[in-house]
Amino acid sequence: MMRNSKTHILIAGGGIGGLTAALALLKRGFDVDVYEQASELKEVGAGVQLSPNGNRVLFELGVGEALMALSCEATGKEIRLWNSGHTWKLFDLGAVSVARYGYPYLTVYRPDLIEVLAQAVRAIKPDAIHLKAHVLGFTQDAHSVTLQLENGTVQGDALIGADGVHSVIRQGLFGADEPEHTGLMAWRGVIPMERLPEHLRRPVGTNWVGPGAHVVNYPLHGGALMNFIGVVERSDIPVESWSVRGSQDDCLKDFAGWHDDVQRMIQATDTPFKWALMQRAPMARWSEGRVSLLGDACHPTLPFLAQGAVMALEDGFILARALEADTDIAKALRRYEAARLERTRRIVQGAADNTKRFHNPELASVEGASAYVDREWNEERVRQRYDWLFTYDVTQVPI
Ligand SMILES: Cc1cc2nc3c(=O)[nH]c(=O)nc-3n(C[C@H](O)[C@H](O)[C@H](O)COP(=O)(O)OP(=O)(O)OC[C@H]3O[C@@H](n4cnc5c(N)ncnc54)[C@H](O)[C@@H]3O)c2cc1C
Repeated sequence: MMRNSKTHILIAGGGIGGLTAALALLKRGFDVDVYEQASELKEVGAGVQLSPNGNRVLFELGVGEALMALSCEATGKEIRLWNSGHTWKLFDLGAVSVARYGYPYLTVYRPDLIEVLAQAVRAIKPDAIHLKAHVLGFTQDAHSVTLQLENGTVQGDALIGADGVHSVIRQGLFGADEPEHTGLMAWRGVIPMERLPEHLRRPVGTNWVGPGAHVVNYPLHGGALMNFIGVVERSDIPVESWSVRGSQDDCLKDFAGWHDDVQRMIQATDTPFKWALMQRAPMARWSEGRVSLLGDACHPTLPFLAQGAVMALEDGFILARALEADTDIAKALRRYEAARLERTRRIVQGAADNTKRFHNPELASVEGASAYVDREWNEERVRQRYDWLFTYDVTQVPI
């Protein structure tokens, strides 16, 4: 433990990735400080699906049980048809996930995940998380790295940019990126469960499929909340942000003709938010000297494999292993990057390839949708699509 106690790691951004990295590093004896621009450590009120490969990280870090107590373990997965509501039950996600991959598949309220991670970080180093700490940039030399904050500077041995899709640290390393609009937009909202009819209050993940749009809904926060995401083909919203408000009327217009259950979920959402879905080519590298990136800062991905946050969890764990394995910081960061590049590239590409998977015109009818479910959701195809993702073991991958 004491071997790393003098190595001081600065982390820009206290989101899912930044806090996971902080916890993994603190547990290996590093000194860590996290600089988060927000004045409170609260995540956006939205849901996130955490597949077993991500939950393995959380259990390895000792926070799995605490998170499970606050989350939902989706027992099943189903597909429903956009207009008739016809339902295809797919599989028992809960039991299958644990039996096959060793860890559950959880649907999680983001503030719960942040709370659990932050508590674990503070239990090791009470003052590790600095709020209202807006990062402006950095400089580095052969001996140290200096982080520039709005209200001063701090020095450390390494800097990790975990500052999300609009990363200042990435920009400092490689300049501005050039995202491409996919022509898609995600509506999202969180609904108090008691506002929904009984038949929707189930621990099941549902994918609604239709022509030109799809909806995903799943329970959160011990079943007290329902997460709603509706992806539509729209290019008029150019901003990637968790805080762009929309209106129920606008959202209802996008789902005109969809099943009553979809309409009810939209009507029960206080404020639906909009997120423009942008695409970026995978980066060829993301470390330079004593500075590296993790999570959305280096491999932002479309949500069509539900792996963005999970990749940030994996990154944090592997980063800590790499820094422990090599006392030369620059070499350690290159080893971390090398261990993560191919997997994250595959995920970014796979999610992009999935962009219109659910928007196929054949999904307009029961017959077309049945053929689609048989083809895309049979056991063999599901394994082909997900086994390589879910079996990844952060404790074993070579570094
Ligand atoms: C609609 C939608 C649905 C999704 N669903 C899923 C899903 O089901 N499963 C999944 O795994 N992923 C999902 N994702 C992806 C997931 O949200 C991201 O991949 C994940 O949040 C990335 O975590 P991060 O810590 O890298 O970045 P972020 O969560 O963006 O955190 C970055 C942090 O850095 C802080 N910050 C930024 N700039 C600065 C600065 N200059 N100074 C200081 N602090 C700064 C921010 O305030 C924030 O706290 C989804 C994404 C979207 C848009």
